[in-house]
Amino acid sequence: MIEKKSRSRSGSYQLVAPDRDVVFECPVCGYLFRDNKDFESYHKKAACTLCVDTYYYINADRWEKGWRPDRSEVIKKWISTM
Ligand SMILES: [Zn+2]
Repeated sequence: MIEKKSRSRSGSYQLVAPDRDVVFECPVCGYLFRDNKDFESYHKKAACTLCVDTYYYINADRWEKGWRPDRSEVIKKWISTM
């Protein structure tokens, strides 16, 4: 049985969204951060731990100058290692 007292439906919903500045995905590979280590890694090197481990150390000079691996190459590599 449907009651006709459902006027509270006109109440508005509040969408709780995180700050725009909060990043939840790696800007290099595009994957969501998996844990706190990824957040820490992002704040230090602007990429998740996997990208830093795989690309940062062997390209540190270029990386510091703004170079990043091509995302499609990164994704191919991740898929091939899964
Ligand atoms: Zn990544």
